[in-house]
Amino acid sequence: MGILDDEFRAALDALGRDSLRRHLREIGSAHAPRIEADGRQFIMLSSNNYLGLAAHPALKRAAADAIDRYGVGAGASRLIAGSLAPLHELEARIARLKRVEAALVFGSGYLANIGAITAVAGPGDVIFSDELNHASLIDGCRLSKAAIQIYRHRDVDHLAALLRESHDARRRLIVTDSVFSMDGDCAPLAEIVDLARRHRAAVMIDEAHAIGVVGPGGAGLAAKLGLEKEIDIHAGTLSKALGAYGAYIAGSSPLVDFLINRARSFIFSTGLPPAMAAAASAALNLIESDPTLIERLWDNAEYLRGELIAAGFTIAPTQTPIIPVMIGASYAAINMSAGLLERGIYVIAIRPPTVPEGTARLRVTPTAAHTRADLDEAVMAFTAAGRGLGLIS
Ligand code: PLP
Repeated sequence: MGILDDEFRAALDALGRDSLRRHLREIGSAHAPRIEADGRQFIMLSSNNYLGLAAHPALKRAAADAIDRYGVGAGASRLIAGSLAPLHELEARIARLKRVEAALVFGSGYLANIGAITAVAGPGDVIFSDELNHASLIDGCRLSKAAIQIYRHRDVDHLAALLRESHDARRRLIVTDSVFSMDGDCAPLAEIVDLARRHRAAVMIDEAHAIGVVGPGGAGLAAKLGLEKEIDIHAGTLSKALGAYGAYIAGSSPLVDFLINRARSFIFSTGLPPAMAAAASAALNLIESDPTLIERLWDNAEYLRGELIAAGFTIAPTQTPIIPVMIGASYAAINMSAGLLERGIYVIAIRPPTVPEGTARLRVTPTAAHTRADLDEAVMAFTAAGRGLGLIS
Protein backbone atom coordinates (compact mmCIF):
# COMPACT_ATOMS: atom_id res chain seq x y z
CA MET A 1 0.00 0.00 0.00
CA GLY A 2 1.28 3.44 -0.94
CA ILE A 3 1.85 6.09 1.71
CA LEU A 4 -0.73 8.40 0.11
CA ASP A 5 -3.41 5.80 -0.69
CA ASP A 6 -5.75 6.79 2.19
CA GLU A 7 -5.64 10.39 1.05
CA PHE A 8 -6.30 9.33 -2.55
CA ARG A 9 -9.31 7.27 -1.41
CA ALA A 10 -10.70 10.15 0.64
CA ALA A 11 -10.35 12.52 -2.33
CA LEU A 12 -12.05 10.00 -4.63
CA ASP A 13 -14.89 9.50 -2.14
CA ALA A 14 -15.41 13.26 -2.00
CA LEU A 15 -15.57 13.40 -5.80
CA GLY A 16 -18.09 10.55 -5.76
CA ARG A 17 -20.31 12.40 -3.24
CA ASP A 18 -20.36 15.45 -5.54
CA SER A 19 -21.13 13.31 -8.65
CA LEU A 20 -17.76 14.37 -10.06
CA ARG A 21 -15.83 11.10 -10.02
CA ARG A 22 -14.62 9.94 -13.43
CA HIS A 23 -14.18 6.39 -14.68
CA LEU A 24 -12.59 4.80 -17.70
CA ARG A 25 -14.82 2.60 -19.84
CA GLU A 26 -13.09 -0.01 -21.92
CA ILE A 27 -14.22 -0.27 -25.52
CA GLY A 28 -13.34 -3.27 -27.63
CA SER A 29 -13.70 -1.99 -31.18
CA ALA A 30 -12.44 0.74 -33.48
CA HIS A 31 -13.90 4.25 -33.26
CA ALA A 32 -16.87 4.13 -35.61
CA PRO A 33 -20.54 5.19 -35.46
CA ARG A 34 -21.24 1.91 -33.66
CA ILE A 35 -18.76 0.66 -31.10
CA GLU A 36 -18.61 -2.36 -28.83
CA ALA A 37 -18.18 -2.20 -25.06
CA ASP A 38 -18.94 -4.80 -22.37
CA GLY A 39 -20.04 -7.19 -25.13
CA ARG A 40 -22.76 -4.76 -26.26
CA GLN A 41 -23.12 -2.41 -29.21
CA PHE A 42 -23.49 1.33 -28.73
CA ILE A 43 -24.05 4.22 -31.09
CA MET A 44 -21.06 6.48 -30.36
CA LEU A 45 -22.02 10.14 -30.00
CA SER A 46 -19.26 11.27 -27.64
CA SER A 47 -16.11 11.40 -29.76
CA ASN A 48 -14.27 14.14 -31.65
CA ASN A 49 -13.94 11.82 -34.63
CA TYR A 50 -16.00 14.39 -36.55
CA LEU A 51 -15.43 13.07 -40.05
CA GLY A 52 -15.47 9.41 -39.05
CA LEU A 53 -11.87 8.99 -40.22
CA ALA A 54 -10.31 7.34 -37.13
CA ALA A 55 -10.81 3.88 -38.63
CA HIS A 56 -11.02 4.84 -42.32
CA PRO A 57 -9.27 2.34 -44.62
CA ALA A 58 -7.17 5.09 -46.26
CA LEU A 59 -5.79 6.23 -42.89
CA LYS A 60 -5.13 2.67 -41.75
CA ARG A 61 -3.30 1.94 -45.00
CA ALA A 62 -1.22 5.14 -44.76
CA ALA A 63 -0.28 4.34 -41.15
CA ALA A 64 0.58 0.72 -42.00
CA ASP A 65 2.71 1.80 -44.99
CA ALA A 66 4.56 4.31 -42.81
CA ILE A 67 5.21 1.62 -40.18
CA ASP A 68 6.55 -0.70 -42.88
CA ARG A 69 8.96 1.94 -44.08
CA TYR A 70 9.87 3.92 -40.93
CA GLY A 71 8.97 1.62 -38.03
CA VAL A 72 6.83 2.52 -35.05
CA GLY A 73 8.72 4.87 -32.74
CA ALA A 74 10.42 8.15 -33.63
CA GLY A 75 13.57 7.21 -31.68
CA ALA A 76 14.02 10.41 -29.70
CA SER A 77 13.36 14.13 -29.92
CA ARG A 78 13.50 15.25 -33.55
CA LEU A 79 16.44 17.52 -32.73
CA ILE A 80 18.46 14.57 -31.45
CA ALA A 81 17.55 11.51 -33.56
CA GLY A 82 16.74 13.24 -36.83
CA SER A 83 13.37 14.22 -38.11
CA LEU A 84 11.36 11.63 -40.06
CA ALA A 85 10.16 12.48 -43.58
CA PRO A 86 6.38 11.95 -43.00
CA LEU A 87 6.43 14.72 -40.38
CA HIS A 88 7.98 17.15 -42.87
CA GLU A 89 5.46 16.19 -45.54
CA LEU A 90 2.63 16.80 -43.09
CA GLU A 91 4.05 20.14 -41.94
CA ALA A 92 4.26 21.37 -45.54
CA ARG A 93 0.65 20.27 -46.12
CA ILE A 94 -0.63 22.00 -43.00
CA ALA A 95 1.18 25.23 -43.90
CA ARG A 96 -0.45 25.10 -47.38
CA LEU A 97 -3.90 24.44 -45.92
CA LYS A 98 -3.57 27.25 -43.40
CA ARG A 99 -1.99 29.57 -46.02
CA VAL A 100 0.95 30.41 -43.75
CA GLU A 101 4.71 30.00 -44.17
CA ALA A 102 5.40 27.04 -41.93
CA ALA A 103 4.10 24.50 -39.44
CA LEU A 104 5.59 22.38 -36.68
CA VAL A 105 4.14 19.08 -35.49
CA PHE A 106 3.97 18.34 -31.74
CA GLY A 107 3.18 15.16 -29.81
CA SER A 108 -0.33 16.31 -28.86
CA GLY A 109 -2.53 19.38 -28.69
CA TYR A 110 -1.82 19.70 -25.00
CA LEU A 111 1.93 19.72 -25.68
CA ALA A 112 1.59 22.14 -28.61
CA ASN A 113 -0.35 24.66 -26.58
CA ILE A 114 1.83 24.63 -23.49
CA GLY A 115 4.97 24.61 -25.66
CA ALA A 116 3.94 27.56 -27.82
CA ILE A 117 2.58 29.73 -25.01
CA THR A 118 5.53 29.22 -22.67
CA ALA A 119 7.97 29.91 -25.51
CA VAL A 120 6.27 33.12 -26.57
CA ALA A 121 5.23 34.65 -23.23
CA GLY A 122 7.03 34.97 -19.92
CA PRO A 123 7.51 37.21 -16.89
CA GLY A 124 6.76 40.84 -17.77
CA ASP A 125 4.26 39.85 -20.47
CA VAL A 126 0.47 39.76 -20.24
CA ILE A 127 -1.73 37.02 -21.71
CA PHE A 128 -5.43 37.69 -22.32
CA SER A 129 -7.38 34.46 -22.15
CA ASP A 130 -11.10 33.73 -22.79
CA GLU A 131 -12.66 32.30 -19.61
CA LEU A 132 -13.81 29.16 -21.45
CA ASN A 133 -10.47 28.35 -23.10
CA HIS A 134 -9.36 24.72 -23.16
CA ALA A 135 -7.36 23.45 -20.17
CA SER A 136 -4.20 23.11 -22.30
CA LEU A 137 -4.28 26.84 -23.08
CA ILE A 138 -4.96 27.64 -19.44
CA ASP A 139 -2.06 25.45 -18.31
CA GLY A 140 0.22 27.03 -20.93
CA CYS A 141 -0.67 30.47 -19.59
CA ARG A 142 -0.01 29.38 -15.99
CA LEU A 143 3.31 27.72 -16.81
CA SER A 144 4.54 30.75 -18.74
CA LYS A 145 4.70 32.94 -15.59
CA ALA A 146 3.25 35.83 -17.59
CA ALA A 147 0.46 37.86 -15.96
CA ILE A 148 -2.92 36.41 -16.97
CA GLN A 149 -5.99 38.51 -17.64
CA ILE A 150 -9.12 36.40 -18.09
CA TYR A 151 -11.85 38.05 -20.14
CA ARG A 152 -15.51 37.06 -20.06
CA HIS A 153 -16.46 34.49 -22.67
CA ARG A 154 -16.40 36.08 -26.16
CA ASP A 155 -16.69 39.55 -24.56
CA VAL A 156 -14.61 41.91 -26.72
CA ASP A 157 -15.54 44.96 -24.64
CA HIS A 158 -14.09 43.29 -21.58
CA LEU A 159 -11.00 42.29 -23.59
CA ALA A 160 -10.61 45.89 -24.82
CA ALA A 161 -10.80 47.24 -21.27
CA LEU A 162 -8.15 44.78 -20.07
CA LEU A 163 -5.88 45.61 -23.03
CA ARG A 164 -6.15 49.32 -22.23
CA GLU A 165 -5.01 48.63 -18.67
CA SER A 166 -1.85 46.80 -19.71
CA HIS A 167 0.21 49.28 -21.67
CA ASP A 168 3.38 48.79 -19.69
CA ALA A 169 3.56 45.08 -20.59
CA ARG A 170 6.56 43.88 -22.61
CA ARG A 171 4.47 41.61 -24.88
CA ARG A 172 0.72 41.16 -25.08
CA LEU A 173 -0.74 37.86 -26.30
CA ILE A 174 -4.45 37.17 -26.80
CA VAL A 175 -5.23 33.45 -26.62
CA THR A 176 -8.54 31.87 -27.58
CA ASP A 177 -10.12 28.66 -28.82
CA SER A 178 -11.54 29.36 -32.29
CA VAL A 179 -14.34 26.84 -31.69
CA PHE A 180 -15.08 26.30 -28.00
CA SER A 181 -14.95 22.60 -27.31
CA MET A 182 -17.80 22.24 -24.81
CA ASP A 183 -20.18 24.87 -26.21
CA GLY A 184 -19.55 24.69 -29.96
CA ASP A 185 -19.64 28.47 -30.31
CA CYS A 186 -16.96 30.50 -32.10
CA ALA A 187 -14.58 33.23 -30.96
CA PRO A 188 -15.33 36.71 -32.35
CA LEU A 189 -12.09 36.58 -34.33
CA ALA A 190 -12.60 39.66 -36.51
CA GLU A 191 -13.13 41.88 -33.45
CA ILE A 192 -10.26 40.24 -31.58
CA VAL A 193 -7.89 40.79 -34.51
CA ASP A 194 -9.00 44.41 -34.76
CA LEU A 195 -8.35 44.99 -31.05
CA ALA A 196 -5.01 43.19 -31.28
CA ARG A 197 -3.86 45.50 -34.08
CA ARG A 198 -4.87 48.61 -32.15
CA HIS A 199 -3.09 47.45 -28.98
CA ARG A 200 -0.05 45.84 -30.64
CA ALA A 201 -0.95 42.44 -29.25
CA ALA A 202 -0.23 39.05 -30.83
CA VAL A 203 -3.09 36.55 -31.36
CA MET A 204 -2.98 32.80 -30.82
CA ILE A 205 -5.98 30.64 -31.76
CA ASP A 206 -6.59 26.97 -31.04
CA GLU A 207 -8.42 25.41 -34.00
CA ALA A 208 -8.61 21.91 -32.45
CA HIS A 209 -12.37 21.69 -33.15
CA ALA A 210 -12.31 23.74 -36.35
CA ILE A 211 -9.66 22.01 -38.45
CA GLY A 212 -11.42 19.60 -40.81
CA VAL A 213 -14.79 21.00 -39.71
CA VAL A 214 -15.04 24.75 -40.37
CA GLY A 215 -14.00 26.93 -43.30
CA PRO A 216 -12.97 26.21 -46.89
CA GLY A 217 -11.61 22.68 -47.15
CA GLY A 218 -11.78 22.44 -43.35
CA ALA A 219 -9.00 25.00 -43.01
CA GLY A 220 -10.53 26.45 -39.84
CA LEU A 221 -12.32 29.55 -38.58
CA ALA A 222 -9.53 32.03 -39.44
CA ALA A 223 -9.65 30.80 -43.04
CA LYS A 224 -13.45 31.02 -43.09
CA LEU A 225 -13.20 34.68 -42.07
CA GLY A 226 -10.21 35.42 -44.35
CA LEU A 227 -8.08 36.23 -41.30
CA GLU A 228 -5.26 33.67 -41.72
CA LYS A 229 -2.61 36.35 -42.12
CA GLU A 230 -3.82 38.30 -39.09
CA ILE A 231 -3.30 35.41 -36.67
CA ASP A 232 0.22 35.10 -35.28
CA ILE A 233 -0.02 31.57 -33.90
CA HIS A 234 -2.37 28.91 -35.31
CA ALA A 235 -2.70 25.79 -33.15
CA GLY A 236 -4.68 22.68 -34.02
CA THR A 237 -4.82 18.94 -33.49
CA LEU A 238 -4.50 15.90 -35.72
CA SER A 239 -6.55 13.88 -33.24
CA LYS A 240 -10.10 15.04 -33.84
CA ALA A 241 -11.50 15.53 -37.38
CA LEU A 242 -8.22 14.25 -38.85
CA GLY A 243 -8.71 10.94 -37.04
CA ALA A 244 -5.07 10.44 -35.96
CA TYR A 245 -3.01 11.83 -33.06
CA GLY A 246 -0.65 14.76 -32.55
CA ALA A 247 -0.96 18.47 -33.21
CA TYR A 248 0.60 21.44 -34.95
CA ILE A 249 1.50 25.06 -34.51
CA ALA A 250 1.51 27.03 -37.76
CA GLY A 251 2.45 30.60 -38.65
CA SER A 252 5.47 32.51 -39.91
CA SER A 253 8.85 30.86 -40.57
CA PRO A 254 10.48 32.87 -37.74
CA LEU A 255 7.78 31.64 -35.33
CA VAL A 256 8.37 28.00 -36.27
CA ASP A 257 12.17 28.35 -36.09
CA PHE A 258 11.79 30.04 -32.73
CA LEU A 259 9.59 27.20 -31.42
CA ILE A 260 12.09 24.58 -32.62
CA ASN A 261 14.60 26.38 -30.41
CA ARG A 262 12.44 27.41 -27.49
CA ALA A 263 9.31 25.22 -27.09
CA ARG A 264 10.26 22.86 -24.30
CA SER A 265 7.46 20.37 -25.05
CA PHE A 266 8.89 20.07 -28.57
CA ILE A 267 12.58 19.97 -27.64
CA PHE A 268 12.32 17.61 -24.67
CA SER A 269 9.78 15.12 -26.03
CA THR A 270 10.04 12.27 -28.53
CA GLY A 271 8.89 13.06 -32.07
CA LEU A 272 5.41 12.08 -33.22
CA PRO A 273 5.29 8.47 -34.49
CA PRO A 274 5.57 8.59 -38.31
CA ALA A 275 2.41 6.51 -38.76
CA MET A 276 0.37 9.28 -37.12
CA ALA A 277 1.81 11.92 -39.45
CA ALA A 278 1.12 9.71 -42.48
CA ALA A 279 -2.45 9.05 -41.30
CA ALA A 280 -3.08 12.78 -40.78
CA SER A 281 -1.76 13.51 -44.29
CA ALA A 282 -4.09 10.83 -45.66
CA ALA A 283 -6.99 12.51 -43.82
CA LEU A 284 -6.11 15.85 -45.41
CA ASN A 285 -6.05 14.13 -48.83
CA LEU A 286 -9.52 12.70 -48.23
CA ILE A 287 -10.91 16.04 -47.09
CA GLU A 288 -9.48 17.71 -50.20
CA SER A 289 -10.76 15.08 -52.61
CA ASP A 290 -14.27 14.68 -51.10
CA PRO A 291 -15.95 17.94 -50.04
CA THR A 292 -19.13 15.98 -49.18
CA LEU A 293 -17.34 14.59 -46.13
CA ILE A 294 -17.60 17.90 -44.25
CA GLU A 295 -21.09 18.51 -45.65
CA ARG A 296 -22.30 15.18 -44.28
CA LEU A 297 -21.01 16.10 -40.81
CA TRP A 298 -22.87 19.43 -40.83
CA ASP A 299 -26.05 17.84 -42.24
CA ASN A 300 -26.03 15.18 -39.54
CA ALA A 301 -25.43 17.74 -36.79
CA GLU A 302 -28.18 20.02 -38.10
CA TYR A 303 -30.62 17.09 -38.23
CA LEU A 304 -29.78 15.76 -34.78
CA ARG A 305 -29.86 19.20 -33.17
CA GLY A 306 -33.29 19.90 -34.72
CA GLU A 307 -34.67 16.58 -33.52
CA LEU A 308 -33.36 17.07 -29.97
CA ILE A 309 -34.84 20.56 -29.79
CA ALA A 310 -38.15 19.19 -31.10
CA ALA A 311 -38.03 16.54 -28.36
CA GLY A 312 -37.85 19.35 -25.79
CA PHE A 313 -34.15 19.46 -24.84
CA THR A 314 -32.30 22.71 -24.22
CA ILE A 315 -29.35 23.07 -26.57
CA ALA A 316 -26.73 25.78 -25.97
CA PRO A 317 -26.38 28.18 -28.92
CA THR A 318 -23.77 26.22 -30.85
CA GLN A 319 -22.38 27.36 -34.22
CA THR A 320 -20.75 24.06 -35.12
CA PRO A 321 -21.51 20.31 -35.12
CA ILE A 322 -20.92 20.19 -31.33
CA ILE A 323 -24.36 19.83 -29.70
CA PRO A 324 -24.37 20.73 -25.97
CA VAL A 325 -27.54 19.31 -24.37
CA MET A 326 -27.75 21.37 -21.20
CA ILE A 327 -28.75 19.55 -18.00
CA GLY A 328 -27.45 21.65 -15.06
CA ALA A 329 -26.68 19.50 -12.02
CA SER A 330 -23.88 16.94 -12.28
CA TYR A 331 -25.98 14.11 -10.81
CA ALA A 332 -28.74 14.75 -13.35
CA ALA A 333 -26.23 14.67 -16.22
CA ILE A 334 -24.82 11.39 -14.89
CA ASN A 335 -28.33 9.91 -14.64
CA MET A 336 -29.13 10.97 -18.18
CA SER A 337 -25.88 9.49 -19.48
CA ALA A 338 -26.65 6.23 -17.63
CA GLY A 339 -30.14 6.20 -19.16
CA LEU A 340 -28.65 6.60 -22.62
CA LEU A 341 -26.01 3.92 -22.07
CA GLU A 342 -28.74 1.54 -20.94
CA ARG A 343 -30.47 2.21 -24.25
CA GLY A 344 -27.32 1.64 -26.32
CA ILE A 345 -26.29 5.27 -26.84
CA TYR A 346 -22.76 6.22 -25.81
CA VAL A 347 -22.87 9.80 -24.51
CA ILE A 348 -20.89 10.75 -21.44
CA ALA A 349 -21.78 13.49 -18.94
CA ILE A 350 -19.52 16.56 -18.99
CA ARG A 351 -19.21 18.05 -15.53
CA PRO A 352 -17.13 20.63 -13.65
CA PRO A 353 -14.26 21.42 -13.80
CA THR A 354 -14.49 20.74 -17.56
CA VAL A 355 -17.48 23.12 -17.65
CA PRO A 356 -18.56 25.83 -15.17
CA GLU A 357 -20.45 24.85 -12.01
CA GLY A 358 -24.18 24.24 -12.61
CA THR A 359 -23.77 23.74 -16.37
CA ALA A 360 -23.25 19.97 -16.57
CA ARG A 361 -24.28 18.72 -19.97
CA LEU A 362 -24.23 15.97 -22.50
CA ARG A 363 -21.89 16.95 -25.30
CA VAL A 364 -23.34 15.21 -28.32
CA THR A 365 -21.19 14.91 -31.42
CA PRO A 366 -22.47 13.09 -34.49
CA THR A 367 -19.94 12.32 -37.21
CA ALA A 368 -20.06 12.36 -41.00
CA ALA A 369 -20.26 8.56 -40.87
CA HIS A 370 -23.50 8.26 -38.85
CA THR A 371 -26.61 7.27 -40.79
CA ARG A 372 -30.03 8.85 -40.31
CA ALA A 373 -31.11 5.52 -38.74
CA ASP A 374 -28.31 5.88 -36.13
CA LEU A 375 -29.46 9.41 -35.32
CA ASP A 376 -33.16 8.48 -35.17
CA GLU A 377 -32.36 5.66 -32.77
CA ALA A 378 -30.40 8.12 -30.62
CA VAL A 379 -33.28 10.62 -30.55
CA MET A 380 -35.69 7.87 -29.44
CA ALA A 381 -33.32 6.93 -26.62
CA PHE A 382 -32.86 10.59 -25.61
CA THR A 383 -36.62 11.06 -25.50
CA ALA A 384 -37.24 7.92 -23.43
CA ALA A 385 -34.37 8.63 -21.00
CA GLY A 386 -35.24 12.34 -20.72
CA ARG A 387 -38.92 11.58 -20.00
CA GLY A 388 -37.98 8.88 -17.50
CA LEU A 389 -35.93 11.44 -15.55
CA GLY A 390 -38.47 14.26 -15.92
CA LEU A 391 -36.03 16.37 -17.94
CA ILE A 392 -38.54 16.77 -20.76
CA SER A 393 -42.31 16.30 -20.84
N1 PLP B 1 -7.30 22.18 -27.56
C1 PLP B 1 -8.63 21.95 -27.51
C2 PLP B 1 -9.58 23.09 -27.76
C3 PLP B 1 -9.11 20.67 -27.20
O1 PLP B 1 -10.42 20.44 -27.12
C4 PLP B 1 -8.19 19.63 -26.96
C5 PLP B 1 -8.74 18.29 -26.67
O2 PLP B 1 -8.23 17.30 -26.44
C6 PLP B 1 -6.81 19.93 -27.02
C7 PLP B 1 -6.42 21.20 -27.33
C8 PLP B 1 -5.79 18.88 -26.72
O3 PLP B 1 -5.51 18.15 -27.85
P1 PLP B 1 -4.87 16.69 -27.70
O4 PLP B 1 -6.01 15.78 -27.40
O5 PLP B 1 -4.25 16.45 -29.05
O6 PLP B 1 -3.86 16.76 -26.61
